[in-house]
Amino acid sequence: MAEMKTYTGGCHCGQVRYEATTDLAQVVSCNCSICHKIGAVLTFVPPEQFKSLSGANVVQTYQFNKKVINHLHCPTCGVESYATGKGPDGKEMFAVNLRCLDGLDLSTVTPFPYNGRDA
Ligand SMILES: [Zn+2]
Repeated sequence: MAEMKTYTGGCHCGQVRYEATTDLAQVVSCNCSICHKIGAVLTFVPPEQFKSLSGANVVQTYQFNKKVINHLHCPTCGVESYATGKGPDGKEMFAVNLRCLDGLDLSTVTPFPYNGRDA
């Protein structure tokens, strides 16, 4: 089991910043219509492992399909650094885009493919 670590991350221009604590045990590369386009590599954390540092009041929300996930992108640079929604158990969760974490070497994580396209 990988160890829990707190990462900082955010959008490209720096308006949206957050901290996320994760062991990166479950990393998902999703093929749904939006992840496919933006190339998101995601991990999911509960609210107590996510802390917004800035930008939560300015992010733009985009929803599609079943509208259960809030895709949050920065109004200035357009980068979707995280999303919020509810898991299958109804609990709130945060989807963190690993591409937006500071200093994370993505070649060290192995995402498993998630078939979001057909979900
Ligand atoms: Zn930005």
